[in-house]
Amino acid sequence: MNWISNFVRPKIRALVTKTEVPENLWHKCPSCAQMIFHRELESNLRVCPHCGHHMRIPARERLTLLFDDGDYNPIELPETPSDPLRFRDRKRYAERLREAQTKTESKEAVLVAHGRMGGRPTVIAAFDFSFMGGSMGIAVGEGLVAAARLAVLQEAALIVVPSSGGARMQEGILSLMQLPRSVIAVEEVKEAGLPYVVVLTDPTTGGVTASFAMLGDIALAEPGAVIGFAGQRVIEETIRETLPEGFQRAEYLLEHGMVDMVVHRRDLRDTLIRILKLLRDKMPPAEVVPLPQGDGKDAGKATARKPEAT
Ligand SMILES: [Zn+2]
Repeated sequence: MNWISNFVRPKIRALVTKTEVPENLWHKCPSCAQMIFHRELESNLRVCPHCGHHMRIPARERLTLLFDDGDYNPIELPETPSDPLRFRDRKRYAERLREAQTKTESKEAVLVAHGRMGGRPTVIAAFDFSFMGGSMGIAVGEGLVAAARLAVLQEAALIVVPSSGGARMQEGILSLMQLPRSVIAVEEVKEAGLPYVVVLTDPTTGGVTASFAMLGDIALAEPGAVIGFAGQRVIEETIRETLPEGFQRAEYLLEHGMVDMVVHRRDLRDTLIRILKLLRDKMPPAEVVPLPQGDGKDAGKATARKPEAT
């Protein structure tokens, strides 16, 4: 590792691979194939105005969307070995990493930040799918541990927004070790009596679903998000059956009790604030009053009555 490979090469590559055409001003909705002007798409939080399809959004945009006034403090993720296995497929893993870093201007596939939501201290870890498919390697695992510890330190709620294809295969077993690590991380938040909420976005699959993503006290999902462990085709080939329509989509999971709410992106922030308020604000304690005497079967039992509003 030196400054030539870390700095100069990505810069040169960015210059060489730059497209001649200016960035496309029109986006085609992958769901309804309508053309949408980029400004309209941005003002609509990257939700198709024609069919309501929720497109993937970068982690930074997600954080701006959720925090009060879009104001947050990102934290520096701990240093981790970047290519422990010196893995290479068609390309070196180190090279893939550098490309993803140049493309997304992020160090890794997860971004951790703290700030306030509805005035309450909150830590959010948001995944960036455009960084190697949001895959979870050592650095992402470390990022989740850091997010959980920060939440405990600040007595803040932890919100995780996965958008990931699963474990990062270029890190082999080391990426699989992030599954138990991320589970322990969120367990620390729960043990401290702090809320842990997940917002499942498209896609939440593989090792991420097999670990922290399914452990939220409350699990929200964006409409139409693909959420599952193995892919639909793999399951169909294994069980040799056709799967029902909408299988592994947020709405299907809601119907089957795996998700608590499916929330439109424009309502996401308000919904989260309401949930955090319910979970964190202490309600007045219930008052225990004895039942009136002479009521045969319930005699002797006490009932809880809500105190009158003050
Ligand atoms: Zn559409």
